[in-house]
Amino acid sequence: MQKPQVGLVGLGTMGAALALNIAEKGFPIAVWNRTTSVTHDFHAGAGDLAARIVPTDTLQALVAAMAGPRSIILMVPAGQPVDDQLAALAPLLQPEDLVIDAGNANFHDTNRRAAAGLPFGFMGIGVSGGEEGARHGPAIMAGGLPIHWQRMRKVFQAIAARAEDGTPCADHMGEGGAGHFVKAVHNGIEYADMQMIAEVYGVMRDGLGMSAAEIAPVFARWNEGVLRSYLVEISAAVAGAADPVKGGPLLDMIVDAAGQKGTGRWTAIEAQNLGTPIPVIEAAVMARNVSSRRGERAAGEALYGPGPERVEVALDDLEQALIAGKILCYAQGFAMMTAAAGEFGWALDMPRVARVWRAGCIIRSAMLNDMAEALAEDPGRNLMLAPFFADHLRRTLPALRRVVAAGALHGLGLPALSAGLAWFDLMRTARGTANMIQGQRDFFGLHGFQRIDGLDQPHGPWAKG
Ligand code: NDP
Repeated sequence: MQKPQVGLVGLGTMGAALALNIAEKGFPIAVWNRTTSVTHDFHAGAGDLAARIVPTDTLQALVAAMAGPRSIILMVPAGQPVDDQLAALAPLLQPEDLVIDAGNANFHDTNRRAAAGLPFGFMGIGVSGGEEGARHGPAIMAGGLPIHWQRMRKVFQAIAARAEDGTPCADHMGEGGAGHFVKAVHNGIEYADMQMIAEVYGVMRDGLGMSAAEIAPVFARWNEGVLRSYLVEISAAVAGAADPVKGGPLLDMIVDAAGQKGTGRWTAIEAQNLGTPIPVIEAAVMARNVSSRRGERAAGEALYGPGPERVEVALDDLEQALIAGKILCYAQGFAMMTAAAGEFGWALDMPRVARVWRAGCIIRSAMLNDMAEALAEDPGRNLMLAPFFADHLRRTLPALRRVVAAGALHGLGLPALSAGLAWFDLMRTARGTANMIQGQRDFFGLHGFQRIDGLDQPHGPWAKG
């Protein structure tokens, strides 16, 4: 076997799956893991692929086992472990070598590392799809210099998922932290998609009194239409699963406190920094935080009464509301990326982002094809103004209003769907209400305002002297 030019550090869940995927696609690969026994167990369990994998016991041995120019993928936890590995590799590598951080780095860290003048090339890439994706086809959002993308393109596009038209879901997003930024927005949208599905599940369960077994086929049916997506598909499977311990629906046995690794929170914080509204994602992050406050929620229910009365909502309305919420959420996410591209000087190509998300990643869905087309017509235009999605929104908005109103009247919390609707209503109102805010600001702080007739008036009559 030729000496590998590709290497990988960190044979955890993701690294092991990615290494097998790379080897399977015909690229010899050298691997190293901090705990040596993990490396050997991994190699021993690699079956036929073991012949293309070179296990090594030290970082020095990893580098020595490879032919130059080397490309070493890091799959270790984000943060200090990445900086530690970069520092450890620095004396071992040549300027033409390349290190690729494929973990979930904060894109600010990736920007910092890319600008740090490392003695080798550096790329940060976002990898989505979990272990299954890493093994059989992830979505890859690459950041870094175009020259480095060109070098790694063959490997990344070989291991990536493929959209229905055969295009690999691996592409270059832009320089520096652009890949990790797009991955963060992906994760924020993932939070929002999941939250909106959970909200309509809640209406079915608590508002319509449906059992999990009754809810499962509803999601399965929706997955045949506009909402066709991985998350709706797995929601049907989750709702339909039986509890292997006690029988009955497993969903009813799962504690209602959602975990998180924080990437949705990063997206929400960054949106605030950029001054770009992503209220559906923010609502989803908020809802996860509220979900973990089980004691307070129980005290709240004890104080304010039991669950809501039954509510009259058509299942078709729930489907339409979910379609509308999804379009509004993505419109916000793409607008945020447009804002970030301007702020960080990235040439982010929105249709390309939509196309990379079509397969392999958690938010993959049929609708992303249409989004890619609408964004290609006019990349700078908000998605809610694209004719195709405006048609969808005109059809689905009435149902979203009915669902949000029913939730408000019957005490069913629908934060993400409500946030989407409120944002939409602000965005379709030419004459808003911030004139009152400007008046208040001038009243207490003499901040000034502009008149709609263009006349010059620095302050209102409340200003003294
Ligand atoms: P695991 O916990 O399964 O594996 C972590 C790996 O990193 C192990 O090989 C571990 O080695 C190694 N490691 C940990 N700390 C250090 C260190 N300080 N120095 C060197 N090596 C270290 O994590 P995952 O595979 O799940 O995640 C890896 C990265 O991928 C993370 O950034 C994660 O956020 C990201 N990611 C994860 C996804 C997922 O679904 N799990 C999806 C997409 C991205 P050892 O065996 O010695 O402990």
